[in-house]
Amino acid sequence: MPFSVYLHFPYCRNKCSYCDFYKELYDPEHERRFYEALFTETRLRGESWPSEDRIITSIFVGGGTPSLTRLDLLARWLEELKRHFTVLEGLEFSIENNPESVTLELLESYKELGINRPTFGIQSFKPKLLKLLNRKHSIRDSQRAVYLTNALRFENFGADLIFALPRQTSRMLTEDLDQLIELEPPHISFYQLTIEPGTPLAEKMARGKLKPVDEDLTYAMYRGGCEKLAEAGYVRYEVSSFAKPGHECRHNISYWEGQDYLAFGPSGHSFVHGRRFANVASVNDYIISLQRGEYPVEEDESGVAERMVEAIMLGLRMTRGIDRRQFAERFGHNVEDQLDRRQYEILIESGYIIPDRGRIRLSETGFFLADEITRRLIR
Ligand code: SF4
Repeated sequence: MPFSVYLHFPYCRNKCSYCDFYKELYDPEHERRFYEALFTETRLRGESWPSEDRIITSIFVGGGTPSLTRLDLLARWLEELKRHFTVLEGLEFSIENNPESVTLELLESYKELGINRPTFGIQSFKPKLLKLLNRKHSIRDSQRAVYLTNALRFENFGADLIFALPRQTSRMLTEDLDQLIELEPPHISFYQLTIEPGTPLAEKMARGKLKPVDEDLTYAMYRGGCEKLAEAGYVRYEVSSFAKPGHECRHNISYWEGQDYLAFGPSGHSFVHGRRFANVASVNDYIISLQRGEYPVEEDESGVAERMVEAIMLGLRMTRGIDRRQFAERFGHNVEDQLDRRQYEILIESGYIIPDRGRIRLSETGFFLADEITRRLIR
């Protein structure tokens, strides 16, 4: 079965106040050792992979801050990947970027490497909010990154914006959206801030120094944002993902639809040939395992029941919803049998869920309450 590839680049120059992804502070010597381990991981995977099953349909380099990477090392990884797998010509190839590290040379090198979908973590255009998030870029950095991307004629690229930030008003969000829409990125990820335990932001809240945005305002911000994006020609295809037609992120869709994906790098999660596993979330342990010639892997013992719940959660986040037939083929169970029947019927009657044409999907109103509805259904 064809599959997608994810690479977790585990370094950042600083740590954002809301972030709980695995990352280390950037160090060039450490990066070199990480890549040596990555080459070994790629070779080991390639050598043990079934020979009839080597087609890669999309690549996504995330992190961390992949735009800090040494490009000669990234190029060597791609060579190693191509030595063992078939990388389809013109496949979607995304890489995440922090605006302050984007240069013309960087983007030109991406093109040479076949990277055709850079994404930019803009998050906000308000200096006060960027400071709160401990982001290091300026408004000019974001504008310049997109300007250079357009100048180099990338047909596909994305930008991320966060809403429901402490101290953010509806007006501030509207201005952020206006500024972003003016830059015309073909894809926008419009995320609600989640306060992750253990982050500096969560600690500030626990000490009472910051207040979370209340639910009504969060709801109004999401609804207003969706309307604004729709007016500007962006189609929502998942709760947080909006695209001009034809620019949906194929890599993410394949993940949400439960197709196979193989992840490289520390903390990368994979699902291949019916098996789920995760690499250790420590770059040092990752390097040590691979120096010994061992996979740096922790098995995920979750069974069919957990995977069905995950498929329901991910499927309901997508505008097209859950395909009943595909669900039954994949798990051997009807999707309705996995739901809380009473809640399911109430949610249909109240117009939040639409069971139609072989699919179960959220209605327009249901979309604004996606997380709550999912919680009720799988309780
Ligand atoms: S740049 Fe990204 S990965 Fe790094 S700390 Fe900030 S949010 Fe987290």
